[in-house]
Amino acid sequence: MSFTSISELASCRRLVVKIGSALLVKNGEANTHWLETLAQDLAKLREQGIEIIVVSSGAIALGAARLGLAGGGRKSLADAQAAASVGQIALAGLWAEKLAAHGMTAAQMLLSLSDLEDRRRYLNASATLARLLEAGAVPVINENDSVATEEIRFGDNDRLAARAAQAAGADAVLLLSDVDGLYDRDPAERGASLIERVEGITPEILAMAGEGSSSGMGSGGMTSKLQAAQIAERAGITLAIINGKQESPITHAVASNRGTIFSPQRSDGARKAWLGGRIVSSGRLTVDEGCAKAMIEGGASVLAVGVTAVDGNFQRGDLVEICGPDGAPLAKGLSEYDAVSCRRIAGLREDHQAKILGYAPRAAVVHRDHMVML
Ligand code: GLU
Repeated sequence: MSFTSISELASCRRLVVKIGSALLVKNGEANTHWLETLAQDLAKLREQGIEIIVVSSGAIALGAARLGLAGGGRKSLADAQAAASVGQIALAGLWAEKLAAHGMTAAQMLLSLSDLEDRRRYLNASATLARLLEAGAVPVINENDSVATEEIRFGDNDRLAARAAQAAGADAVLLLSDVDGLYDRDPAERGASLIERVEGITPEILAMAGEGSSSGMGSGGMTSKLQAAQIAERAGITLAIINGKQESPITHAVASNRGTIFSPQRSDGARKAWLGGRIVSSGRLTVDEGCAKAMIEGGASVLAVGVTAVDGNFQRGDLVEICGPDGAPLAKGLSEYDAVSCRRIAGLREDHQAKILGYAPRAAVVHRDHMVML
């Protein structure tokens, strides 16, 4: 069941709690006492029958301090990778200790972007999470930063938390931030007001996010939180942002009923939700007005005849973005052809395609069963 106000948070069944570096690490050291109060909050939720999954940042910040690296270990990818290696051991130990103090068993899972983009690996991660929860453990997830390279990393744990929630079949995500939630403008500006509930992320909502992270320690910021909320809302998951700065942050937010809730907007089947939440696409198809209309109004597949441009160098089965004539993204889907074949048959009707391809064409360039509207 989903909740519509922060005070009803405990009505969820399986919750992902994401904690940013700025909350967990102060001056290069773990914010131990605060973490103890958070662990107590998590124990309380578990007593109420809620299954908990933690997504914890902090490896880079902790490791950078130990290695004496400048810029919090974020000056280069090599620094971040080295810092994460050192910090992750400490971070995992910390979680194991603080959760154990409340009788909970921590289970470390380090995931990379590709673990969740590839369907088979996603299902593996999903099965491990399910088994851990069934066995009563608390999965503590972070990105596998020490091996992730720039092109294939989440880079922020907000989107990782939303994807992990999908993989875990969670119904809610709670992002602990250093602000109260989403404001209608820069919270430092006079008259800025907190938005309590968002029913679907629109371009206006996206425009409310300023650039970057206020703490400078994490890589999140409001933009990545909204991207996470977009993944969640399409997957039927409620996402909430609360201020995590106080001790016992969850108890505090529930009592004050303060934060921003992003309500789920739809509940695609599991496979489509996974597809819709995928982050890396390998190319782009632009379609004409008629095709865009048929997709939007009738849920139609993308036929070659409606394709006006093909960008990128993708293989058959790769994820492509489908854009309307104005360039606005309409959908994501798996291409039935590689980019070269797509270019050859773009704009052609079925009978002409066969001559060009030398074989009977497939039913569509992107079939509706392998496509999600955005
Ligand atoms: N995975 C990174 C870490 O543990 C943090 C990413 C983020 O800032 O969201 O330090």
